[in-house]
Amino acid sequence: MNTSTSTPTLSNRVLNLKPSITVSLNNRAKALKASGVDILGFAAGEPDFDTPQPIKDAAIKAMLDGQTKYTPTLGDMVTRDCIANKLVTENNILGLTGEHVAIGAGGKHVLYSSIQCLFDFPADGQEPWEMLLPTPAWVSYRPICELSGGVVREIDAGPESDFRITAQQLKDAITPRSRLLILNSPSNPCGTMYSESDLRELAAVIHESRDIAPNLVVLSDEIYEKIVYGDTPHFSIGSIPEIADRVITLNGMSKAYAMTGWRIGYVAMPGEFGKRFIKAIGTLQGQMTTNITSFNYAAIREAITNPEVAQTVEMMRNAFASRAKLIMDRMSEIPGVTCPTPTGAFYVFPDVSALFGKTSAAGTKIADAPSLSEAMLDEAHIAFVPGNDFGGISGNHLRISFACSDEQINAGMDRFEGFVEGLK
Ligand code: PMP
Ligand code: GLU
Repeated sequence: MNTSTSTPTLSNRVLNLKPSITVSLNNRAKALKASGVDILGFAAGEPDFDTPQPIKDAAIKAMLDGQTKYTPTLGDMVTRDCIANKLVTENNILGLTGEHVAIGAGGKHVLYSSIQCLFDFPADGQEPWEMLLPTPAWVSYRPICELSGGVVREIDAGPESDFRITAQQLKDAITPRSRLLILNSPSNPCGTMYSESDLRELAAVIHESRDIAPNLVVLSDEIYEKIVYGDTPHFSIGSIPEIADRVITLNGMSKAYAMTGWRIGYVAMPGEFGKRFIKAIGTLQGQMTTNITSFNYAAIREAITNPEVAQTVEMMRNAFASRAKLIMDRMSEIPGVTCPTPTGAFYVFPDVSALFGKTSAAGTKIADAPSLSEAMLDEAHIAFVPGNDFGGISGNHLRISFACSDEQINAGMDRFEGFVEGLK
């Protein structure tokens, strides 16, 4: 609350905003490491690989060629067309042109812009708009929705369904106030995926709900689409014709091309509403960021079209697949820890609730996932994200990113095992 009159105050909006646990724990682990503590970080959701060289070269060349000025707000049309073409040919999302694509400063930023363009604060006497959020879900969806005046209706999924919601659950959750359904496959934090037939079932429910929930659109966050290593291939729900004009597809360069620091993301939506939605994002970004860094457009096109880059992406995918196996093998030896098998992204999400109620070797009472994560950071020097902020049943879990070397995975699992063995 803003109560003081003698000192400046911050907005209630930001005072009430929950910091991102993934970002803050990663920052903390990095700071501890910089101060000389031997921390092994597993909190960061970012590939440890460097950005492929042709992408860097393209950005350097663009800069040297003078592409250093303001650009159109949503991105230059050549690059927007290039992204549209990728989504049509690779993801089968038909009818997309550059006009249906908005480029922004990261997946998180285009998510923020999208939600700002869909939600309003409720007028007096009106119920707020709802965002349907299958949980466990990435920590940023909820706060971004709440900042825009929406409320979150969680749809809980658990290990018994491989963390996928069912069509019936979706049907039961839809109301006239439903504005947005978030889907994220492969999933952060679970590493599990929806199959094509799962998505067709969900799409049928959305199609049948048009009259009940005329404002409902889907945002399909496909940022991990290139990091898939199980039997389930990636499938874009935006390719299903019956609901295609209601689907926003979100993606970006961070994960697929190891470009987290470049801050590039995009959203696309076909149809006439899609064009209006994208234009609205342009208006918003015109008052916010103006455009992304000008010499990054060449890098986006290089990443998407250069076959040499595609080979590097495949190399990274194989590395994640083998790390997933390594970390699962190691965790299966740790008593009291059970973990769903990831088939995409680079996270494992073990259930550690069997450890709650115990006391660490150094005397810390382990009450829940946050106290476990704290004790592990302090005593075993490993940074694992407590599940709680991922919603639903996540409080029983820790999230461990395995976007790091085999050596680090082995060393981290040695410490994890030692810590668990020391519990009384
Ligand atoms: N969606 C999901 C599910 C994520 O895990 C992330 C991670 N940062 C993002 C979107 C956004 O990534 P970025 O802002 O780096 O593009
Ligand atoms: N998405 C990554 C994660 O979940 C990066 C940090 C963030 O943006 O949340 O760790």
